[in-house]
Amino acid sequence: MKEINKKAPVMVTGATGYVAGWLVKLLLDNGFTVHAPIRNPNDKNKTQYLDKLAASAPGTLRYFEADLLREGSYDKAMQGCELVFHTASPFALKVKDAQRDLIDPAIEGTRNILNAVNKTASVKRVVLTSSVAAMYGDNKDLQQLPHHSITEEVWNTTSSVDHQPYSYSKTMAEKEAWKMQNQQQRWDLVVINPSLVMGPGISPEITSESFKIIKQLGDGTMKMGAPDYEIGLVDVRDVAQAHFAAGFTPTAKGRYIISGHNSGILEISKMLRDAFGDAYPFPTRKIPKFLLWLIGPLAGFPRKMISRNMGYPFRADNSKSIEGLGMSYRPAQESVVDFFSQMIEKEEVRS
Ligand code: NAP
Repeated sequence: MKEINKKAPVMVTGATGYVAGWLVKLLLDNGFTVHAPIRNPNDKNKTQYLDKLAASAPGTLRYFEADLLREGSYDKAMQGCELVFHTASPFALKVKDAQRDLIDPAIEGTRNILNAVNKTASVKRVVLTSSVAAMYGDNKDLQQLPHHSITEEVWNTTSSVDHQPYSYSKTMAEKEAWKMQNQQQRWDLVVINPSLVMGPGISPEITSESFKIIKQLGDGTMKMGAPDYEIGLVDVRDVAQAHFAAGFTPTAKGRYIISGHNSGILEISKMLRDAFGDAYPFPTRKIPKFLLWLIGPLAGFPRKMISRNMGYPFRADNSKSIEGLGMSYRPAQESVVDFFSQMIEKEEVRS
């Protein structure tokens, strides 16, 4: 049971990111002092909107300079903190060099943060942002599981540097975190495993891969049809709430799947069509698997990924988060529509 002193500063890595933005807002609105180690505190494009949030909230925001790959760079920001949220990790589905761009920063970053935690006597709890990607690699993997559903007990065993490298980076980073936690007794680890995060970002800059996926439904990329692909969805504001609860619920323990809904890409397209009509070229049918198999590699989707995912159902069991963290999830329609509305407002998509 870890009681966190609410007067102590709280550290959030990746504060400039999509997911962390809402967490920082929640902490500031609740009067916390937030220590935000970021790559470039002088980049006003990345900090201005956070400064605005801080100015109108009872909490205080302090920046520090740090990089996941620079050892020791988080030490200063962590001083005096009892709670550390580690959200920073590169999230990209297409990269040039998976080892350099995804896997090294994810694993070495986690190691670097937790080495700093080991050196900082005040820290009692670390909340790590992992992903459901650390639980399964491809939808086909779920066929082997009881009820064909992921739970907190399962691990991704099928991803590698060459196949689903982002999922591999999340799996290896979370495993490293558990290994380091097991080597000591002072701090505990609570892991948040969100599915695909949706909903409006706080930042005016489009950062996360999440934006690209929804944008493609409305910008004509999928006009030939939506892939027959099922995923889990969760609202970004609910993910922030889950982090907050994981940090301050003394009984929180282990991993938590944070996923509101299981959905197909075509169902998401239907939610958008119901709200925006025919103003945008939302797909109205599924693209046949053989066609996707033929053209997929041209769009950067390897055939192995297509054959192991398309047509297989996805299910995630979110009951532990409801019971243990008191989660309640927004309707998927609300997240998807709010998300697309923001893209229209920012002229990321045009009718
Ligand atoms: P994002 O907007 O791209 O945010 C990533 C954050 O990580 C940014 O603040 C970025 O800083 C920081 N970062 C990346 N490389 C770094 C480095 N070398 N040193 C320091 N900071 C670095 O993506 P996101 O969607 O919010 O993702 C946040 C976390 O949620 C990640 O751990 C991701 O794996 C996890 N997650 C996301 C989803 C989703 O659907 N979005 C689902 C499950 C889990 P800069 O601003 O300097 O680039």
